[in-house]
Amino acid sequence: MIPQPFEYHVPKTLAEASRLIAQFGAEGKVLAGGHSLVPMMKLRLAAPKHLIDIGRITELSYVRPDGDGKVEIGALTTHFQIESSELLKAKCPLMPEAAREIGDAQVRNKGTLGGSLAHADPAADWPAAVLALDSEIRVASSRGERWIPALDFFVDLMTTALAADEILTAVRVPVLPMNVEPSQPPRAGDSYVKLHQPASGFAIVGVAARVLLAEDGTVAQVGVGITGVGAKAYRATAVEEALKGKSPGSKHLEEAASHAADGVQANADLYASAEYRAHLARVYTRRALEKAVERASGK
Ligand SMILES: Cc1cc2nc3c(=O)[nH]c(=O)nc-3n(C[C@H](O)[C@H](O)[C@H](O)COP(=O)(O)OP(=O)(O)OC[C@H]3O[C@@H](n4cnc5c(N)ncnc54)[C@H](O)[C@@H]3O)c2cc1C
Repeated sequence: MIPQPFEYHVPKTLAEASRLIAQFGAEGKVLAGGHSLVPMMKLRLAAPKHLIDIGRITELSYVRPDGDGKVEIGALTTHFQIESSELLKAKCPLMPEAAREIGDAQVRNKGTLGGSLAHADPAADWPAAVLALDSEIRVASSRGERWIPALDFFVDLMTTALAADEILTAVRVPVLPMNVEPSQPPRAGDSYVKLHQPASGFAIVGVAARVLLAEDGTVAQVGVGITGVGAKAYRATAVEEALKGKSPGSKHLEEAASHAADGVQANADLYASAEYRAHLARVYTRRALEKAVERASGK
């Protein structure tokens, strides 16, 4: 189908984009990679009168250390740029691992981190990753800028904490705090595992995990983010609480993972019933934890 008519704006700077989005209010929409918005416009599920294409604002495309033990990723950085970033592979391997699971090469070359997070599709991959990592999300408007913890960012189905006049500008992810003593295990491991919907490639279930082990081998810290199961991606706090302080053997991992869908109303569709999705959440959480623990143990 053909989208409804719209005016097309191409700001060259973030300040100009912020002015335009403030000027047009609810009639304006930011366009990044266009791989979610354009299909929605063609289906006439979205009909903005003004399209503000931020794709040429090069200052929003980067991956760099922020000098504070974190890596900052600009909102316009594509999935492929994250997948192939040497800095992220070394410092925060969960991000490239999750990027590899997104769509196909064309989607990964055009789709952006900021666009995916702002869109907040309940089956998108990035929300699970940024939640597990305790990331922060920077947003800007003509009123100034603010950082939003990922935990507070996803509000409901395709609804985020972004105000109508705000543009998502960057994401800050904590690096994997690895033990660099060569004779010792790294004691920190990340992982992302996903069951793809066979037609769309989106997550039926996607689980991101980060595990930090104490010197005695018990779990000191753990973060688990889950997508595809409920109306929005969520942090599996019941899993984390069940695992903290325990030795990460298979019995404890299985027990902790059994809480993966606690308190969540699981989605049901033609492919997977609510019960099946909740079951998959538990299975994929166990697998994500096993993989992260294996890496933290240097295996
Ligand atoms: C065939 C296909 C397969 C896909 N498979 C997957 C998959 O397996 N996993 C997955 O996670 N995703 C998948 N996607 C979605 C893809 O990752 C999109 O690129 C992503 O969801 C949106 O990013 P975008 O840059 O294309 O955003 P756009 O489509 O340009 O925008 C999406 C929404 O976000 C808003 N927006 C964009 N950027 C900003 C910003 N910086 N600040 C504020 N608002 C903004 C727009 O106004 C719009 O409402 C798939 C898409 C397609 C077409």
